[in-house]
Amino acid sequence: MRVGIIGGSIAGCATAALLHRAGHDVIVFERSESGLVSRGAGIGTPAAVWQDMLARGLIDETLPTVKVDSIRYVTRGSGTGRPRWLGDIQVSLKAFNWAHLYQCLRRGVPDDLYRGASAVERIEAGPGGTRLHLLRGGSADFDLVVCADGYRSLGRGLIDPGAVPRYRGMVMWRGLLPESDIGADPLGGCDLVRSVYQGGHGLMYYIPGTGQSTEPGKRLLMWGYYLQVPEGALASVLVDDHERQQSGSVPFGKVHPQVKAGFESRLADLLPPALFELVQRSGNSAIQAVYSVAPRSYARDRLCLAGDAGAVFPPFTASGVLKAMANATSLADALAGAPAVDDALRRWSEAQLQVAAEVMPMAERTEQGLVFDMPDLTTMPAAAANDWISSAHPGFAVTLPGT
Ligand SMILES: Cc1cc2nc3c(=O)[nH]c(=O)nc-3n(C[C@H](O)[C@H](O)[C@H](O)COP(=O)(O)OP(=O)(O)OC[C@H]3O[C@@H](n4cnc5c(N)ncnc54)[C@H](O)[C@@H]3O)c2cc1C
Repeated sequence: MRVGIIGGSIAGCATAALLHRAGHDVIVFERSESGLVSRGAGIGTPAAVWQDMLARGLIDETLPTVKVDSIRYVTRGSGTGRPRWLGDIQVSLKAFNWAHLYQCLRRGVPDDLYRGASAVERIEAGPGGTRLHLLRGGSADFDLVVCADGYRSLGRGLIDPGAVPRYRGMVMWRGLLPESDIGADPLGGCDLVRSVYQGGHGLMYYIPGTGQSTEPGKRLLMWGYYLQVPEGALASVLVDDHERQQSGSVPFGKVHPQVKAGFESRLADLLPPALFELVQRSGNSAIQAVYSVAPRSYARDRLCLAGDAGAVFPPFTASGVLKAMANATSLADALAGAPAVDDALRRWSEAQLQVAAEVMPMAERTEQGLVFDMPDLTTMPAAAANDWISSAHPGFAVTLPGT
């Protein structure tokens, strides 16, 4: 089959690599002109997803990862503000540098099949095939088009015009610091610190450094804090350092100094001073507004969705990469030897919807608990704090102070 793929990021590269290997005639159209490597920061995913990517040959052992076997909860202690340990949650995650993950997946797509600086402007989907019109002129016809074009997908609008991304009332402010610039280990030897404060929380963990090193001292420290921003004020924080209005995110190094100062003044009273100091020291930060969307179908005619072009969950289940991989691998499996492509697509779409219907409420519950309903644990008595941690993590092994 001739398969066109819109978007050459995580979902697009994974889908392209798998379908190319299955013998399909694949072309990827990626609108970015400059390559995607500068986009990333840290990304965490369940270790099982990393193992599956290895088993499928989508990545290899050279992809550097940092293991995360437990999440340490801390809050700002009353009085001194020193971190107050609330508990450890056992998990099994891998942390990547986004750029390394992207580069590894990208290597699975031969260069002659990957067209950079090729934005798709319009899609004409029909029962027999799909035509893509390119922004720079020209068009191409395919038996199937996979839209892997992110949360503002062009194709999702054709498959389900009612599925519009919904702003979740918060942004994530992220930053990176070379580990070599930090004195004592701010994580105190644990894998990931989640600092909680009334109305939100943040994460801090190591990712492989720019030289792909996972050696202590050569990694990057990534921090990210969820801050509630009402919809009416969102535009004012998505202004870059040249006063240009951005939509959805402000890239690394471009955050407006006034916005940075505003976020800092909010976090100054919420974080333990040692963690706040790291925020102040990071010259390099970015802002990402949080959206969700749930399309009612993943396929129409010869058009289908993968990754964030499909459902987008609030980002509290570390499932962005998982979802992209699950969409890509199940699509390749569904098409393998399917006598009737349309039937295979219909069944595949239903299976994707079922998974999304299970994950969305879970992600929304986590969002509610860890952001909107996050209590002030600073002064909460130990027994109540223990109850809170345990009830927020049903099914996880939890180590609590005093146990
Ligand atoms: C705050 C935050 C934190 C997150 N943390 C995590 C995490 O820890 N773990 C995790 O797994 N996930 C996380 N996610 C989610 C994760 O980032 C996404 O799920 C994942 O990056 C989606 O990959 P994708 O390939 O589907 O889309 P994208 O990476 O958005 O790629 C879409 C591509 O399509 C291209 N494109 C768009 N339109 C066109 C067009 N018309 N023509 C051609 N090309 C086009 C774009 O240039 C882009 O390269 C987080 C998300 C947020 C917002």
